[in-house]
Amino acid sequence: MRGVNREQMCWRAVDVERLIGDDHAARAIWEFVGRLDLSGYYERIEASVEEGGRPAIDPRLLISLWVYAYSVGVGSAREVARRCEWDPAFQWLTGCEAVNYHTLADFRVLRRAELDETFTQVLGLLSAGGLITLDQVMQDGTKMRALASGKSFRRQRALQQHLDEVRRYVREMGEAEPEGDSARVRAARQRVERERCERLEKAVAELEHLAASNKDARVSVSDPEARRMKQPDGGFAPSYNVQFSTDAVHGAIVEVDVVQDGNDRHQLTPALERIEQRLGRKPQQMVADGDYTTRANIEAMQTAGVDFIGSLRKEETAEESPFSAQQFRYDEQQNCYLCPQGKRLRPDGSQTKSGVRYRRYRIRTGECQGCPHRTACCGDHRSRNLMRPEPSAALEAFRQKMSTDEAKAQYRKRSRVAEFCHAWIKSKFGLRQLPVRGLLKAKSVMLWAALTFNIQLALRLLKPQAQPAR
Ligand code: SF4
Repeated sequence: MRGVNREQMCWRAVDVERLIGDDHAARAIWEFVGRLDLSGYYERIEASVEEGGRPAIDPRLLISLWVYAYSVGVGSAREVARRCEWDPAFQWLTGCEAVNYHTLADFRVLRRAELDETFTQVLGLLSAGGLITLDQVMQDGTKMRALASGKSFRRQRALQQHLDEVRRYVREMGEAEPEGDSARVRAARQRVERERCERLEKAVAELEHLAASNKDARVSVSDPEARRMKQPDGGFAPSYNVQFSTDAVHGAIVEVDVVQDGNDRHQLTPALERIEQRLGRKPQQMVADGDYTTRANIEAMQTAGVDFIGSLRKEETAEESPFSAQQFRYDEQQNCYLCPQGKRLRPDGSQTKSGVRYRRYRIRTGECQGCPHRTACCGDHRSRNLMRPEPSAALEAFRQKMSTDEAKAQYRKRSRVAEFCHAWIKSKFGLRQLPVRGLLKAKSVMLWAALTFNIQLALRLLKPQAQPAR
């Protein structure tokens, strides 16, 4: 029998080139990234032969590491650094060199402008290869959980108490020198508390901003920029709203954004502007679900000259209550409404809400008194009024278009195309929760995910001759 000796030290010869097979995804990513124009990243490196300084890690390596990490479902800088020590694909990429996780984490969030440029370059390649046409673009949003617990939300008073305590603790830490701790441990502790204090100060500032519109506002002490948003399971959790614009031909992500507004209705026009800015032209057709299908968006799309396919929600079409505005008959000659009891509601000024102009009609004071339907009709108000939106030709044309089979068929394609990238990023990249805190960092992380998604698409579908030339 040959025994096992685990106490010995081994010195192995490693053929780095043979750590992974010839057709391994890491090789393809490395080659692809190497053919992109990365001059923006190189210009930021300050160390040089003339000036001296510590040699920087090649941005090509850091980009390849992150793209490969996302593609295998690794989204943490520490985990990437760990994998560089044992995972053959990561070792092949780094040439068996260690990469510090701080370097990886900083590179991911601090090179936003360069990353944006790389994303545009990849879109250019996809477009040149015929994988993006902008004939039809689907817009959809998903709620991405923030790196914060639902219990971390505080109101103004609790937040201020918390901040005062942490400030006092940081001060005491600076004065006292705990025995037994090394200088490194002490410095790490102080950094943690300092960051906590900064987060709390940010939370107080964020709360002051929110309190202007909501007196009962609360913010998370872990991620002050996250917002409580409704989740698909019906619950609420601190999240960000991630918006993807997807080209319908092959599902390439042409634009990505992260916003704090849980509602999608204000995201369609900004998405259109960003697509035009990035790709130099507008999509011919935009398709979005009922959350985006508002009168304001329909009119904005018509003004922009973009064909919009959507789904009007029930409140935009008809209401079923016997005392809803639709049940009041409009008398065009008299310019007044007749309520179900035959009383007149006369014009009483106008009002603009969410960019739409409404005319107000009001019944004379006292006329509703004694009406048997007053509670159902007026609710808590003493008399009834109703708002009539100014007629919209765009809305009428949209209604007619959406009643055709052609428009309905286009709309049915929406979920298959628009929701695929969300599902892929959540399940394959493991991005169900953001690994970073703050809106800007969240934007960077989602841009990396979109870049990885598009590079995978390019590697799968682009012919070698259409891939970037050296
Ligand atoms: S409550 Fe007033 S507006 Fe409503 S049905 Fe009665 S009379 Fe008409």
